[in-house]
Amino acid sequence: MKVSKLFKMFISLNNSEINHSFKESIFNGLSPDGSLYYPKKINQLTNLINNITKFSNQEIGFIVMKSFTKDEIPDKSLKKIIEKTINFDFPIKKIENNIFSFELFHGPTLAFKDVGATFLANSLEYFTKDKILNILVATSGDTGAAVANSFYNKKNINVIILFPKNKISSFQQKQITTKGNNIYGLQVDGDFDECQALVKDAFKDKDLRNKFDISSANSINIGRWLPQIIYYFILFKELKKRRLEKNISVSIPSGNFGNICAGIMSQKMGLKFNKIIGSTNINDTIPRYLSSGVFKPNKTKRTISNAMDVSNPSNFSRIEKLFKNDFKLLTKKMISEKVTEIETKNEIKKIFKEFGYVLDPHGAVGLVGLKRNLYNNEVGVFFETAHPIKFLNSIKKIIKLKEDFFNISSNFNSEERIYSIKNNYKSLIKFIESIN
Ligand SMILES: *Cc1c(COP(=O)(O)O)cnc(C)c1O
Repeated sequence: MKVSKLFKMFISLNNSEINHSFKESIFNGLSPDGSLYYPKKINQLTNLINNITKFSNQEIGFIVMKSFTKDEIPDKSLKKIIEKTINFDFPIKKIENNIFSFELFHGPTLAFKDVGATFLANSLEYFTKDKILNILVATSGDTGAAVANSFYNKKNINVIILFPKNKISSFQQKQITTKGNNIYGLQVDGDFDECQALVKDAFKDKDLRNKFDISSANSINIGRWLPQIIYYFILFKELKKRRLEKNISVSIPSGNFGNICAGIMSQKMGLKFNKIIGSTNINDTIPRYLSSGVFKPNKTKRTISNAMDVSNPSNFSRIEKLFKNDFKLLTKKMISEKVTEIETKNEIKKIFKEFGYVLDPHGAVGLVGLKRNLYNNEVGVFFETAHPIKFLNSIKKIIKLKEDFFNISSNFNSEERIYSIKNNYKSLIKFIESIN
């Protein structure tokens, strides 16, 4: 019998001899050598780009993801996964003159991470075996919510969400801890980077991985990271419909730099953007790195844009690879801006006063970073990555809003169920063993 040979699409960033399929890569999360997976080949989607206004968002999603999943998921099944993933709107709102907000928060958990998390959950479910799969994920707030929602009740999957104690908004915490069943909200006595480090330790732990099947749902997982490319194609379509597709510059509020890395991938696939700006809060490792050449994460500081309270962005090695590991090329092509807390708050105040538009703290960081780099002849777009209602306590201290300003319910039906561990690896292991 002839066995058709599967094209293995993904290699390890540090070792191109490690070569895995899409399925293997999403189950492993991290490559066995401890580095990130990276596509062996990035296809130009010329036909899609030239005719983009004729395609629906779901068709765009299908074509983009098909270029990575190849023949591993039959078209019919991939279409079904995409239908579950791209099932809400991605509106563009004009804020002023040549500046637009690209709203990515209309999904079930009100942040842009819904798309990646839903795609990953449904792909894992598609391939899943009888053995229990343990998803380990560190969150600075929104990943946990998106993952809790998209993996809830998925058969044979346990989800363990590590979040830093008292460092995420109460809305975000409830999104993680009120689901129950196969979703475990694990409070860690530490910051986000420490949560992320615990997850990384687990991936490197061969004994643990021999005992249990373990995968990740952070944007280190290609199944979470790659679907974010779809946003950039949808954005391009929307602007082309308005005849605004020339001279676009985009600003991405960035923490782990997964979303912006997807944007740089979209450029490799053929989309034209003048500038891609990675805007950060005061956790500014990347802006400092681009100006000094020294990569030196500081201790993570707490801000009102908490989903970006990250000082060692896990996707940055992919970005360096996309620029051929050439620092000069990187600094020529990529801009990164640090935005302070005062600037963020002032922008929220100003945009509400002048235009009646409520920014969330992350979008506000994106907008400030955009304005610093935008010329008059350009179309500027900042990504609005979360709904402001998720950060209502912070927003209310900055602007006055009527009680029912957001026509949206923020009630949670169930009680919170919080599990706690100390900030050390032993405690995490104990917890994993206790639920398996
Ligand atoms: C996760 C998140 C970000 C940062 O995205 P990265 O891909 O980690 O850079 C920005 N804004 C919001 C609201 C988020 O949830």
